Amino acid sequence: MNRFLCPYCQAQLNVGGHLVLSVHCKNGTKGVVLLSDELGNYSADISDNLKFNEGDHIHFHCPACSHSLEYKENKNLARVLKEDKGVESTIVFSAIFGEQSTYQINEERTLTFGEHALRYTDPDWYRKN
Ligand SMILES: [Zn+2]
Repeated sequence: MNRFLCPYCQAQLNVGGHLVLSVHCKNGTKGVVLLSDELGNYSADISDNLKFNEGDHIHFHCPACSHSLEYKENKNLARVLKEDKGVESTIVFSAIFGEQSTYQINEERTLTFGEHALRYTDPDWYRKN
């Protein structure tokens, strides 16, 4: 059983095959997005009050504690935790609408997903945590 967790409050973020995140737009509009909990699957459902165009920066927040999920080493990425059979990984994914880049990082290895994964290939960015 995969569990996706907020790195700040440990809330479980996935249900029914989806990762549920809240989104805050610069103009004050807020909504939720449903992302697939399958890494590399970029199908998404977005509240219909939110409109994104290719290249827009999406500000993801935890739906439980509202903390920003922005990855501090790179503002174009967002971060959650994943627990899979007792193994904890960091999941980092692109917060740019239309960009398909996902990284699963743990002590043993880093897995990459998505056709744009090579856009973030600085070999050190993910070790800086
Ligand atoms: Zn939280």
